[in-house]
Parts: sequence; C-alpha cells; structure tokens
Amino acid sequence: MLGIDAINISIDSLDPRQFHAITGHNKLDTILKGIDMALADGRPSIKVNTVLMKEYSGRNIQSYLDWLKDTPVTLRFIELMQTGDNQDFFDAQHVQGSRIKQNLILDGWLPVIQEKTAGPAQEFYHPDYQGRIGLIMPYSKDFCNTCNRLRVSSSGKLHLCLFGENGLSLREQLQSDNIIPLQTKILSLLGDKKAAHFLHDKLTGGTKHLAMLGG
Ligand code: SF4
Repeated sequence: MLGIDAINISIDSLDPRQFHAITGHNKLDTILKGIDMALADGRPSIKVNTVLMKEYSGRNIQSYLDWLKDTPVTLRFIELMQTGDNQDFFDAQHVQGSRIKQNLILDGWLPVIQEKTAGPAQEFYHPDYQGRIGLIMPYSKDFCNTCNRLRVSSSGKLHLCLFGENGLSLREQLQSDNIIPLQTKILSLLGDKKAAHFLHDKLTGGTKHLAMLGG
C-alpha cells in the first residue's frame, strides 16, 4: 500500500458519541473503515493508540476486546501522563495500566517476547484474538530502561526525553548540507540523556503539553 508498512492511529473510544465528545469530530466510522481497507490492502502493521482515562476506560475495555477478536491490529492502552499544564486533569483522570495487565493475564493473554529495540510498550497476545494489546505504563518500574527515543522539535531542538528540559539546539548543524557535524553534535549530547523521567516527583520538565513534541 503506497510503500507504507506501518501506521499509528488514535482511537480514544469505540463508542461514536464518546469519540465525538473526546475529539470534537464525528469520524469514528470513517476511521474504522479506513483501518479495514488498510488491512485488506497489504496488511500493514497498524497500531491503534488509546489514552486511558478514568471517565471512559472502565466501560470501553470490553468493546476494545470484542473488536480485537477479529481485527489484527495492536491496540495500545497509554496511561495518561502529567505535563506542565494538566495537573487537575491528570489527577482526575489518571488510571494505572497495571490493573488491565493483571486482568489480561488472568484471561489468558501472554506476553510477546520483544526485541531490545522495541521501545517501552509491553505487548500481549491471545490465541483466541487476532489483535494484540500493548500497554504503555510510564509510571511503572523500569519503564525507561529500554528507551530508544530522541525527538527533534520543529524549532530544531533535540529533546533527549519527552519530559526533559527545553531542548538542545541543533539549528546550526541542521542548516548545513554536511551531515557529519550534526552526527557529532548529537553523539556529544547523548551522554546527557537521563536514565529515567522524573514524573514520580511531579517534575514534567519543559513539556507543557505533549503536542509540543508530538507525544
Ligand atoms: S526516558 Fe523519557 S522519552 Fe524515554 S521512555 Fe522515559 S519518559 Fe519516555
């Protein structure tokens, strides 16, 4: 399919009214049809991201499980993360993914053995389901141990962590046609990458909201 072999999509509810309430758009049906078409046309790897929120999650998990029975996508439950501007929302809506993990294991879901470079999601499969489930639990122990993420903002700053400070400028090197100084600069900055975030201490770094860095 157009050379695309992996797609990430956000679906925060499979209930059309909730989806509309969360996103402001009445597009759930269109998105689900798009996923069916993509799967039928070359079967790219599709990850569907959904943020766990107290207000919705309890009711929604069964509908996601029903959908995964026959839909070969990886559905990733992402714990809400605290950022600089969402303290009240975070306190009201944060749900731990560990409870979902316990229930999945009780229901016969098995951990996928992942490569070291697979990133911090924990994935599970079940012989009765075509789809898989991933859990992204940033408050769990050792979450950052397998972090292989670097981000560059649209203003040319390197962010060593989603919750780091205000970024390290690569502007000068990015403006050059020579890639070597860029490689050298990034390598010299990598040593400053911390082993973990500091969210447990309510330190969110310079990240006011995840849209700043694309999540
Ligand atoms: S170190 Fe930062 S970017 Fe990496 S997994 Fe942890 S929170 Fe995410």
